[in-house]
Amino acid sequence: MAAMAARASQLITLGAVLVLALALAEVDRCSGAQDYDFFFLVLQWPGSYCDTRQSCCYPRSGKPAADFGIHGLWPNRDDGSYPQNCNPDREFDSSKVSDLLGSLRAQWPTLACPANDGLRFWAHEWEKHGTCAEDVFNEHGYFQAALRLRAQLRVLGALRDAGVHPDGGYYSLAQVKDAIQRGTGFEPFVDCNRDESGNSQLYQLYFCVDAAGSRFIDCPVSPGGRPCGARIEFPAF
Ligand code: 5GP
Ligand code: 5GP
Repeated sequence: MAAMAARASQLITLGAVLVLALALAEVDRCSGAQDYDFFFLVLQWPGSYCDTRQSCCYPRSGKPAADFGIHGLWPNRDDGSYPQNCNPDREFDSSKVSDLLGSLRAQWPTLACPANDGLRFWAHEWEKHGTCAEDVFNEHGYFQAALRLRAQLRVLGALRDAGVHPDGGYYSLAQVKDAIQRGTGFEPFVDCNRDESGNSQLYQLYFCVDAAGSRFIDCPVSPGGRPCGARIEFPAF
């Protein structure tokens, strides 16, 4: 009898511990406790998005400028893993960024087909990545931060100053990284894709931003991505 009572009391304690753990997990989720250590700001070169086998479509607003555009601002952990799709209740609402739409069209243009106005791309980035950083950003803050951070970098100017031009020429990885390091103060990770003929080309640049989303830092971890060849093409756009 005493053994049964002890067993029952053990089960009750176990149940209580489980309920408490679940409640704490829920509080954690709802309070938006930070589940990442820093952000990747990922920029894309439109020429290298477009001249692959899959090609591209210009957005309805017209051909974007020949400059690095934003792909996303992605919360990431120091061990290389990352949270995603953190809050299905927080769907992208374009009315919350109405004052930023002009800047988003110019600096965060979509190149995916079929041609569209970019809302789908921005919604995807906010829902997949932005909702995981709600402890520091609401939707407006998320897009504003990415735009502000990109503007601080002036990557294309840094490359030009070092004689690295988007003219279909070839450069070494070190040339590209050094030019950007010298011009911006930060060395990016370079992600290459392949043009239609299979040549390695400069596709994306990963910079790192502190967990507050406010300033650039040296990257704690490499994002992986596709390695570049010894010679990197910098295609025109
Ligand atoms: P991610 O790769 O960030 O998870 O997803 C990017 C998504 O946004 C893909 O579904 C892709 O088709 C879409 N997308 C729309 N426009 C662009 C663009 O200009 N660049 C990239 N990389 N993806 C885009
Ligand atoms: P891909 O496989 O094209 O490199 O990446 C597909 C998508 O997965 C990216 O657009 C991004 O949404 C996500 N992703 C890939 N690598 C990373 C990473 O290192 N960190 C984060 N936060 N997201 C990533």
